[in-house]
Amino acid sequence: MAELKAVIFHDRDGTRYYRCPRCGMLFRTSKDYTRHVNRAHGHLFRK
Ligand SMILES: [Zn+2]
Repeated sequence: MAELKAVIFHDRDGTRYYRCPRCGMLFRTSKDYTRHVNRAHGHLFRK
């Protein structure tokens, strides 16, 4: 499975977020982010 690399940043409280570079959605965990990419953008990786 190919990857779509998350944009990781921290808010002022130091909480880490994962942002999807394709649609801008935010996730609190890499697990949620990965699940989103697979569901919403998985078609990008089919060959
Ligand atoms: Zn997305």
